[in-house]
Amino acid sequence: MDEFSLTGKTALVVGASRGIGLAIAQSLSRAGADTILAARSIDALRKATDALRAEGSSARECVLDISSSESIRTAVSLLPDIDVLINAAGINLRKRFQDYTREEYDRLLQTNLHGIVELTQVVGARMIARGKGGKVVMIGSLMSILGLPFLSVYAISKSGLAGLTRVLAAEWGRYNIQVNCIAPGFILTDLNHDMWQTDELHKWRTGAQANPQMGTPAHIAPLAVLLSGRGSDYITGQVIAVDGGYSTTASWPFEP
Ligand code: NAP
Repeated sequence: MDEFSLTGKTALVVGASRGIGLAIAQSLSRAGADTILAARSIDALRKATDALRAEGSSARECVLDISSSESIRTAVSLLPDIDVLINAAGINLRKRFQDYTREEYDRLLQTNLHGIVELTQVVGARMIARGKGGKVVMIGSLMSILGLPFLSVYAISKSGLAGLTRVLAAEWGRYNIQVNCIAPGFILTDLNHDMWQTDELHKWRTGAQANPQMGTPAHIAPLAVLLSGRGSDYITGQVIAVDGGYSTTASWPFEP
């Protein structure tokens, strides 16, 4: 199973205090990576790393605010060389396009796009300088590949990550750095917990995807492990949906 082993690799997961990023960090750690869990919530990070260390791993936490250039540069200057960068930090705000304020627009883009661009620049520059290759995994969204209403600014940020994934894969291929993007479907987390309270919404989703289950962070983590290790050496520049089939399938109330 060497293709899936991350033993000897150092992984940085940004947005690892809860939800999808935490599930990915736990799986990378269990696959053998020396995993650094980064976010703003130090207490949640400590709880997660304590639990991982109790399993025998070397997980550790790092306070990092992806929306602050200063925080990114300080954090990265204290980190060891990184083999795997997972960009999972993200926020969302659902509104009619015409109602977003400039402050809301800036806050969403600063966190979901500009901060991730800056972090990927500084970590990627060190990967290149070291000359040992690497892996970058963006956590995009269905809004990286299609449209749903009231998600315009989020879609701008997540489509930006998809474009960056393709270009960086081309640009950094010569350094043996593979860059991919996971597009999670409907995954129940703190980010959307309030939205998924109505039966009506669940009924709509059930008919719209081949696997009718609601997604969980654990559905996303295995692909992140694959994209972090040797098994993905020939996969790059891809935006891969993990969405129970939402982006490709639907069902009809019809029997032939
Ligand atoms: P979540 O449970 O709310 O987790 C968001 C994570 O991002 C937390 O660890 C949070 O940590 C971190 N974060 C937010 N702002 C940050 C900042 N300024 N600096 C550093 N970290 C920050 O949400 P989630 O659903 O797991 O989302 C994770 C990623 O998946 C996001 O990029 C999201 O867009 C994407 N996604 C989610 C879904 C879904 O259905 N849930 C679908 C598609 C894509 P702190 O608050 O501790 O800083």
